[in-house]
Amino acid sequence: MSHKTYPNGEIIPDQLPNAYRVGNANKKCSNCGFFVAVSSYCSKWGAIVKAGYLCNAWKPMEGGSSNVRSASRAASGGSYGGGY
Ligand code: SF4
Repeated sequence: MSHKTYPNGEIIPDQLPNAYRVGNANKKCSNCGFFVAVSSYCSKWGAIVKAGYLCNAWKPMEGGSSNVRSASRAASGGSYGGGY
């Protein structure tokens, strides 16, 4: 019965989990692999979400994300402190 609401009073869709909350700089719906930007839709929960929010099901977007890039750099790096 008790709907969760955004600070502005808008109702948060029931489909969204309890862990749905305000996101942070690194993780938020707008950079989540489930987010459909054109309609602000979450394909994981099947509900409209806010770009700046976040839930525990967050996953990185596939392809070309900064996470992938830094991971490959770490894998091939390690030359600091190496031979000279
Ligand atoms: S899975 Fe969670 S973090 Fe990702 S778009 Fe949906 S509500 Fe946002």
